[in-house]
Amino acid sequence: MKLSRILSNQNGISRKQANLTIASGQVRVDGQICTEAARDISRFQSVMVGIKVIQQAEPAHYLMLHKPAGYLSATEDPVHPTVMELVPPELRGHLHIAGRLDRATTGLLILTNDGNWSRRLTEPDIKIPKVYRVTTLTPIGADAINQFAEGIWFACEKLTTSPATLEPLAPLEARVTIFEGRYHQVKRMFHAVGNQVTSLHRERIGTIALPESLPPGASRSLTPEEIGSVP
Ligand code: URA
Repeated sequence: MKLSRILSNQNGISRKQANLTIASGQVRVDGQICTEAARDISRFQSVMVGIKVIQQAEPAHYLMLHKPAGYLSATEDPVHPTVMELVPPELRGHLHIAGRLDRATTGLLILTNDGNWSRRLTEPDIKIPKVYRVTTLTPIGADAINQFAEGIWFACEKLTTSPATLEPLAPLEARVTIFEGRYHQVKRMFHAVGNQVTSLHRERIGTIALPESLPPGASRSLTPEEIGSVP
């Protein structure tokens, strides 16, 4: 919301008065004087006029979880355990998942209460790489590398996936980098080239990598560098 609107809503003054107050240098955003009435302010920022608190900053939470197999990427489910059972209890109910993983898929899952940030992380147009380690049922053919690079036709959505990188590591193992997060994307890409995924593990999203020191089921807060790495 624009700074001038926050001021007029919370302080019971007109937009014109709010603009004047802001221009006069009495308004601080996160402790810094702000004279820009049109500045977009999130709920994670504080706003003060002099010593009067107009908006208290809500704490923003950014968490990485090492998702084990068998947990649903959902907030609740009547049958299966969900990843929310693995996050600190005080944060449950506040977080949403930024890029789901299938129930059997393991690895890096990011949870946050910052919708603008998670939109940028998952927005296909922003093309943040998602890196997966894959094992397959049958040997990975050399032609699959080109097919992934050219994009795979998804008939249901009537679209071709963005160019993806397939790096074979062993006959039945590869590292795959995709730049979108479509439903069952990696499994469907392998299916389209006549193969089948038998295990899938997300190693990295952008520059945010799952550390080896974080065991399955454990979570930790993202560092300021990790949070700031999302454009
Ligand atoms: N692609 C899949 O097929 N499954 C996942 O969980 C993530 C990417």
